[in-house]
Amino acid sequence: MDLLKAREKPEMLTALELLDKRMTLSYSEKQYMATLSKGFDGEVLFDSFMEKHVFANAIVINDVSLVLGSTSFQIDSIMLTSDTLYLYEVKNYQGNFTNRNTHFLTTASQEIENPLNQLNRTTMLLSKLLRKWHVTLPIKSFVVFIHPTFILYEAKITDPFIFPSQLKHHFDTVNHQSGALTDKVYSLAQKLIKETKKELPYQRQLPCYSFEILKKGLLCSLCGSMNLTITTKKGECRACGQSTPIKELLLSQVKAFRSLFPEVHITSNMMYEWCGKRLTKRRIAVLLNEAFEKTSYGKSTHYL
Ligand SMILES: [Zn+2]
Repeated sequence: MDLLKAREKPEMLTALELLDKRMTLSYSEKQYMATLSKGFDGEVLFDSFMEKHVFANAIVINDVSLVLGSTSFQIDSIMLTSDTLYLYEVKNYQGNFTNRNTHFLTTASQEIENPLNQLNRTTMLLSKLLRKWHVTLPIKSFVVFIHPTFILYEAKITDPFIFPSQLKHHFDTVNHQSGALTDKVYSLAQKLIKETKKELPYQRQLPCYSFEILKKGLLCSLCGSMNLTITTKKGECRACGQSTPIKELLLSQVKAFRSLFPEVHITSNMMYEWCGKRLTKRRIAVLLNEAFEKTSYGKSTHYL
């Protein structure tokens, strides 16, 4: 198995997690963050399963965001073998659900959309795109339920669902069927990667934030607490006991700042404020000098 595009944590999730430590998110923002986080965990679990069980000649491309005309769509995972394109939509649902065809019903009688609708839509769009590229490769698409406790009552045998206990068998079948990869498959893989957009526009906006309203300080690398005792070399967390070298603490705050304020230059003054004045400006400047390249414009220095 050849992993051509590894999965990355969604930028939206990273930004929400960073904001969560420095401001109070609303209930719905917290819920949205939890949903994204759970979805991402499921995808990572699927990836590890695939790595362990796919031995066939196959190319795997994760997080494929494509555009057909004015319609954009996203696919969790694509696996190309000698004769088939496998499309996987991964769901990390937990617990008992009942299949009511148009929707799933949870035990608390909550309706959620049947993921089959989304699967049919992406499959249709992808097959149109392949036709446009003059590629003929059959697509087999599946919804993979990855959480070990997931149960779906009234599922039909014809539904393209893969349940946790069936995943190994599914990959065994793929291993058995796939032959040597042809140039056609390699060039399709390259095309898919080339056409994949970096990130589709955020479906939801991030909460409103500014430098002024965010809490300033050094955050524990393990639990995110700002309750740290700073010594010359380390920051010791009073909440969880984790000890982190000062340089590492500072650089992770710089990274967080860059994610939240990509347009703003990193300067030692700015980082002094951002870290809640817990380190001296001089110390920050020394550490930034070690870690980054400097650019000077007159009196001000910023870091690239
Ligand atoms: Zn901690």
